[in-house]
Amino acid sequence: MMQFDGNTKVLGIFGDPVAHSLSPKMQNAAIEAAGINAVYVPFHIRPEQLQDAVEAIRAIGLLGVSVTVPHKEAVMPFLDEIDSGAQLIGAVNTVVNRDGRLIGYNTDGLGLLKSLDQELGFNPHGKKTVLFGAGGAARAAIVALAQSGVSHLVVGNRTAEKAERLVRGFSGHFPGTSFSATSLESDLLQSALAETDLLVNTTTIGLHGEAFPVRAIKSLSESASFYDMVYTSGLTPLQSDAQGRGLNFTDGRGMLAGQGEEAFRLWFGVQPPDKIMHSQIAK
Ligand code: NAP
Repeated sequence: MMQFDGNTKVLGIFGDPVAHSLSPKMQNAAIEAAGINAVYVPFHIRPEQLQDAVEAIRAIGLLGVSVTVPHKEAVMPFLDEIDSGAQLIGAVNTVVNRDGRLIGYNTDGLGLLKSLDQELGFNPHGKKTVLFGAGGAARAAIVALAQSGVSHLVVGNRTAEKAERLVRGFSGHFPGTSFSATSLESDLLQSALAETDLLVNTTTIGLHGEAFPVRAIKSLSESASFYDMVYTSGLTPLQSDAQGRGLNFTDGRGMLAGQGEEAFRLWFGVQPPDKIMHSQIAK
């Protein structure tokens, strides 16, 4: 049982909705295991309350917050400083309060890289990658994968113009990676899938049991790995397909733990005890 006193530091997560979030369970377990006098709580913040809520971080003296849907981009103008990685991604998922100065970071990409290593034993350097989606999670993944030296990155999205815009924006930053953008239905995507080493799903498809709209897993080679950022209590149709084909695959719980560990390190200046966060969100 956690004990609080006059010195207990408070952290939390801003989201709308927020009640479903696994972060309080994960972070509080790590705080307790590390013997830190702090508590992490959910804050249901609606978009019109976001600016006041950010100002309250200073007023109340919160140590920091996680930021989730739909605030990851909207929070940026209210902060004092944005770390260069978060700036490039264009979204913040972690705010640190350093003596009243609010600094925004994005730990999603590091979470993905940690999970690719730990869950799939996958090193992106020099590898071909196909990524589905062009939202905030896709931007974090693209930056992390390109910084890790993937050789090819094909971005497939339902709205092809959004994929094209991302590729145009990022290709100048990462000359070592060859980028292309495509719609989900194109032949280019099917041939990229047949040749790729890694498929990353950053769309929301599967969250509510929806099937992926096009042939995806069946087009991959047997040696390809599949990372699905979506996580549910069971398997999504894409994940069932991957299991049926015996592919090296995982869902997004490892990434959730990895981004949480990195946020913990930013707030407290120490690593959380190993695997505590993973154990809290295991199926
Ligand atoms: P977002 O910005 O809203 O982007 C959603 C993406 O999904 C867009 O590319 C959208 O395509 C696509 N999409 C949605 N419905 C679709 C459909 N029916 N058919 C085809 N494409 C569809 O969301 P986000 O913030 O990037 O998050 C995406 C997912 O990643 C969520 O499930 C989130 O929970 C997960 N995530 C997981 C972690 C983790 O730690 N595991 C971290 C971050 C995010 P259009 O552009 O065509 O609309």
